[in-house]
Amino acid sequence: MRTWGGVAAESAPLLTAGRAADVTVHVFLQREIPAGHSIELWRHFVSDIEMVQCVDAAKPAFFGCDSDVSAEPFVFPDARVHGPGTFFPYRRYAGVRLSQGAPADAQFAFHFHDVRMQTYEETMFNLRVAILNSDELVAYLGDAMLRIIGDKPETLRLIAPTCVVAGEPFDLRIVACDRFGNKSGSDLSSVEFELEHETGNALILDDIQYSDDDCLHTVKSVVLDADGVHYVRARLTCDGLVEGVSNPIVVRRSWEERVVWGDLHQHAYFADGRGRPAANYEYARTTSCLDFCSVCPHQEFLYAPGLLRIADAPVQEGWEELIEAADEFNRPGFVTILGSEAGSLASIAGHMNSYYLDHSNRPELERLRDKGKCRPESNRPESYDAYLTELEASKGEYLLLPHAHARGGPGQFDLPRRPAYQTSVEVCSVHGVFEECYRQWLMNGHCVGANGGGDNHMTSTGNANPGNHYPNTNGLTGAFVSEHSRRGIWDSFKNRRTVAVTGNQRLFVEFSANGSPMGSVLSGGVGPCQLRVDVAGTAPILKIELVKNGEVIRTHRPELVTRGLLRVVWTDNCCSRRTDESKTTGTISVPAARLSLMRKLHAYNGTDSFEEADGVIRFRSNAYSGITRGVLAAVEGADMGSDLVFEVEDTSHKRVVLRDRISVALAQDRQRVSRALDTEEGFRRPVFTPGPNVPHLFLDVDWVDPAWPRTAIVEWIDTIKSGDWYYVRIEQIDANIAWTSPIWCAKI
Ligand SMILES: [Zn+2]
Ligand SMILES: [Zn+2]
Repeated sequence: MRTWGGVAAESAPLLTAGRAADVTVHVFLQREIPAGHSIELWRHFVSDIEMVQCVDAAKPAFFGCDSDVSAEPFVFPDARVHGPGTFFPYRRYAGVRLSQGAPADAQFAFHFHDVRMQTYEETMFNLRVAILNSDELVAYLGDAMLRIIGDKPETLRLIAPTCVVAGEPFDLRIVACDRFGNKSGSDLSSVEFELEHETGNALILDDIQYSDDDCLHTVKSVVLDADGVHYVRARLTCDGLVEGVSNPIVVRRSWEERVVWGDLHQHAYFADGRGRPAANYEYARTTSCLDFCSVCPHQEFLYAPGLLRIADAPVQEGWEELIEAADEFNRPGFVTILGSEAGSLASIAGHMNSYYLDHSNRPELERLRDKGKCRPESNRPESYDAYLTELEASKGEYLLLPHAHARGGPGQFDLPRRPAYQTSVEVCSVHGVFEECYRQWLMNGHCVGANGGGDNHMTSTGNANPGNHYPNTNGLTGAFVSEHSRRGIWDSFKNRRTVAVTGNQRLFVEFSANGSPMGSVLSGGVGPCQLRVDVAGTAPILKIELVKNGEVIRTHRPELVTRGLLRVVWTDNCCSRRTDESKTTGTISVPAARLSLMRKLHAYNGTDSFEEADGVIRFRSNAYSGITRGVLAAVEGADMGSDLVFEVEDTSHKRVVLRDRISVALAQDRQRVSRALDTEEGFRRPVFTPGPNVPHLFLDVDWVDPAWPRTAIVEWIDTIKSGDWYYVRIEQIDANIAWTSPIWCAKI
C-alpha cells in the first residue's frame, strides 16, 4: 500500500489566554492528486483555536498557503460539530483547492498567522490533514502535532503521597499553574518558595530541586513525625502572590496498603481525543503527577487512525503506538495500563473499557480484531455477547469496566453478571456525575466498585479543563495498593479497593465493616454490623452519607454552631448537557441585606461567571450533568426571617426551559428546591431517573461554617443480612464528592 504523503508542523509554542502565534503545517505528497481535489486542515470539535480568514494577510488570524502548485485557499467559518460538512469528531477548518493537478512530490506550506487560543487551555493540539474530492473523503495524510505551554502562574498545586509512614522521607511536588490550571511555562527555576505546615509541625524543607524539562519543583525528603493528617502550604511571589495547599497527607506508624491516584480513561488523537499516547502519559506523569494512567482510546479508530471508512488507511498503526507508549512510560513511580474503549456498546450495556494486564495478550487482541469483534454494534445483544465470549477466550488477564456517557448508561442493567472482570464503574468524568449509573449496576446485583476517571477527549490527562463543551474536570481514582506496580493497581481494581473523587481532589477515604475493608464480601447471615469511615478531605466536609442497598440510611453532618456562610449551589439531572448548548443566568440576593461572594464553586469554563455588585451576586453558568455550580457567600445585615431569592433563567438550545424566582427561607439550616425544566421531545434524558424522565434543576441552599473540619471519623451500627451492601458518599463544602466502593454481605 502506497501512502499518500505526510505532515509536519512547526511553530513557536502557542501561549494560552488569547496570545497570538504563527504556525506552519508542511504537507508533502507521495501520490499525484488531480486538479479540483482539495487538501483540508481540520480541528478537533472541542479545539479552541480561533476561526481564521484567508482574505487579508495583514489582519489577524490569517490562513494562507505556499506551494509550487496553484491552489486556492478557503476557510470554514462556522462548521458544526455534527452533521454534513464535518467529519466527526473534527470540524473542517481551512484548506486549498487545487487549480491544477499536484505531482507526486508536491509540497505545501500552510501558514496560520497571528492566530490566538481563546478561552481555555489545551496543552496539545493537532491539525488533521485530509484530501477530499468535493465533499468526499479520499485520504488521511496525518496530524500536525503542536504543543502549548501555560501562561504565568496563578496557583500552586502541591502533590504529596496520601499515605506516609511517620519519619519516612517523601517527595512533595509543586506545580505552578496558570489560570486554567495548566502548568506554567514561566521560568521559575530561581524562585524561592515559602513552605509551612498548616498546624505548625516542623518540616525539613531545605532540598528543593527544579527540573527544567518538567517545569516541576520537587521538595526532597520531607519528613513528618507525628501521626495524623497533615497539610502543607506553599507560597511564592511572582507577579503577585501565588499559593496552594497540598492534598491531605495521612501519617501512621505503618500501612498495609497505601492509596495511589490515577485515571484509566484518557482518549488520544487517533479519533475523538488529542495528543499522542506518549504525550498524554508524559503530561499525566509530570504535570498531573498521577501515580497510574491508561490512555484508552476508542478501539474502532485504532485500526484506521485518523479516519473511519477509508479503505487504505494504515491499519494497526494505532495499536503499535498505544502499546509502545504504555511500555515506555511504565516506570518506577508511574504505572501504565494498556486499555481501549470497547466500541459503542451503548444501547445494550453502555460504554465499556477493556484493560489488559500483560502486553503479551496482544495476539489475543488482534484475534478479536480480525474477527471483527472489537466493534460490537450497539443495538445487537448478540454482538455484546460475542465480544464477551471472545474476551473470555483470551489467555491473559483483562478487565471490562463500564462507564456512563452522553445518553447516560446502558439501555439495561440486568445483564449477565461478570464479577471476575467487570469489577468497577466509573462514577464521574468530564461528562458529569453518574452516581445513579453506579447505583443501578449495584441494584442489579453486579459486584462493582467505584472509580473516577477522565473520559477526557481534551488534553491534560488528569488535570482537565472542561473548555467550552464539557461540564466537568476529570475525576480520579484512589486505589489502595500493597505495591505501586502494574499488578498492584490491577489487583486494586479487581478487588474493588478503589474510591472515586470529583474535581481532581485527592481525598483520603477508608471504609470498613466489622473490620473488613471496602470491597469485601462478608459472610452471610444476619447480625450487627459496625461500619466505619475515616475521611481526610481537601475542604471542610459538608456531609457523609451511608448508602445501604441504594438508599441513604444515615447522614453525618458537622454541627452548625456558627452560620458562617451561605452555600448556594445548583445542578440538573440532564445527562451530559453540554456547555455549548445550555446557558443559565440569574441573580442571588437577600432583600434588604448584602451578599459578599467568598468563593466560586466549579467555575470551570470561560463561560461561567460569578460576580458581586451592590450586595447581589450575578451568575452565568453552563452544563451541569450532575456537577454543581455555585458560590459561598457571606451575608451582612440579614434578618433571619427573610428569604434568599434565586432568580434564574435557564436556556437549552437557545430556548428558555426555566424562568423562575425561587425564595428560600434563611431561617432553615438547609433546603433543597427543584423545578422541572420545560424541555422539548428529544431533549437529552436525565440520568436513569425511574418513571417519567423529566429534567429538573436542583437548588441547594445550606448554611455552612468554613471552620468545619476537613477530617472526620464516623462509626455507625446497623443490622446486616445476606444480600445487603453499603457504600459511602462524602461531599465537601466546595461541592466536590467522593464515593467508596461497596462492602457486601454474601447471599446464602
Ligand atoms: Zn465512552
Ligand atoms: Zn471514553
